[in-house]
Amino acid sequence: MTLEQTLPICIAGTWRLGGGERYASHYPATGEPVAWLNAASLDDVEAAVQGAHHAFVHSGWAQRKPHERAAVLYRIAGLIREQAEELAQLQRQDNGKPINETRALVASAAGTFQFFAAACETLEETITPSRGDFVSMSVYEPMGVIAAITPWNSPIASEAQKVAPALAGGNAVVIKPAEITPLLALQLARICEQAGLPKGLISVLPGKGSLLGDALTRHPLVKRVSFTGGTRTGKHIAHIAADKMMPVSLELGGKSPTIVLADADLDHAVAGVLYGIFSSSGEACIAGSRLFVARALYEPFMARLTAAAAQLRVGDPADESTQMGPLISAGHRESVERYVALGLAEGGRLRLGGERLRGGVFEQGYFYPPTILEGLGNHQQVCQEEIFGPVLVALPFDNEEDLLAQANDSLYALAAGIWSRDYKRAWALGRKLQAGTVWINTYKQFSISTPFGGWRDSGLGREKGRLGILQYMEQKSLYWGMNPQPLAWAGVEAGQ
Ligand code: NDP
Repeated sequence: MTLEQTLPICIAGTWRLGGGERYASHYPATGEPVAWLNAASLDDVEAAVQGAHHAFVHSGWAQRKPHERAAVLYRIAGLIREQAEELAQLQRQDNGKPINETRALVASAAGTFQFFAAACETLEETITPSRGDFVSMSVYEPMGVIAAITPWNSPIASEAQKVAPALAGGNAVVIKPAEITPLLALQLARICEQAGLPKGLISVLPGKGSLLGDALTRHPLVKRVSFTGGTRTGKHIAHIAADKMMPVSLELGGKSPTIVLADADLDHAVAGVLYGIFSSSGEACIAGSRLFVARALYEPFMARLTAAAAQLRVGDPADESTQMGPLISAGHRESVERYVALGLAEGGRLRLGGERLRGGVFEQGYFYPPTILEGLGNHQQVCQEEIFGPVLVALPFDNEEDLLAQANDSLYALAAGIWSRDYKRAWALGRKLQAGTVWINTYKQFSISTPFGGWRDSGLGREKGRLGILQYMEQKSLYWGMNPQPLAWAGVEAGQ
């Protein structure tokens, strides 16, 4: 396939050109096209959902024994590992993340399929304590067609986190990847087919979310939406879901506090804060974007942090040593720049960065340097809104009460970090922070076995964890009558 050829998309088991407009996925490091494809049309949405429903009803997937479904998921994990380097390079081109990071995302996607295969074949249904002459059970059933709507920042990992548990639960899946990063979802669908997943159980609809994602969410045959993306879109989806009485899971934005207490191990804290905000160029929902430092430590800590941040290697994502690649698009870089300008207008000072990088690769791609703002109050807009870029706001705090009031003062509540040598203090603080995930003396570490999700505007529901599969299943209670006599109320006696 040459670059100029138009990639087919996967609709209900058929690979064909989408019915929508032709567009390209661009490499953010150069702005050049990586692949051309036609977006899906509304007719394609209809075909994908109808095809998924048909496959759900007729392919026998839902009726397969859990260990049989698991076998296919294990094969998907194996194929992802076999194609790991190719997938990592494709993701680097599709969204511009450094190659070391995309390799880790691909490994994580393989691990996710493996984990949910194991979760599927070991999932237990329970016999509940009976309170009458019956045996009572709690069992789980597949739901039908699941819509998986994903953002552009970590495509293969986000898609695996939805597709693996949904398939494990016996469902069909229609993926709506971010318009600008469609390539990994398409490749994942190919891998699912190679692994022997029955045709039609997976479809991929590249194109605009406001058209396709919206239609998918509203479709009566779609029984659940699993969404990762911005809070505004998440709320829109939640409204539609409320009208359909449809469950949704929403993994949304964040403005996570990362806290350096006066007794922190400074080497660990500097490394962790840098990784928390600047890895992935800050394009991470869990980015530790609000830094709180004990006032007594503020100046020396900020001096070390700033010096280390200035050494981060920003550049070519294909280079193994690159730590920060470009931002996803020109438009997104402009949005980051507007936030920095707003921070300055709000009275903030630049401790580092804040100016576009110039020369060489920086002239083509959408690069932006590590940037640190200070001199602001937690109530100000740049401290409250998600920037989704390499911009850290640093704030001193006086005591724990002051710290907690500020750290918890956010519409978001996705994650938080604490750096301290005093484990008892860190434990107590960790319990008081309002966030879906709290890291203590580490940051941005993940395990597929540990549930993930946000409070408040950061989302609804949890992904990952053994029980993540249950999001994609309906719970059913079964009662088996064991009484030799008819139910007493009607007054009918046995044998009469
Ligand atoms: P968006 O909410 O804009 O987009 C996410 C997905 O939703 C895309 O596929 C998008 O399509 C689609 N979409 C857009 N409008 C609609 C609609 N009306 N109905 C249905 N789907 C729609 O987010 P971004 O792509 O900008 O992603 C960044 C956001 O994602 C950040 O806020 C970040 O915090 C959050 N995020 C959260 C994570 C978490 O786990 N909590 C993890 C990663 C990111 P299109 O591409 O056409 O816009």
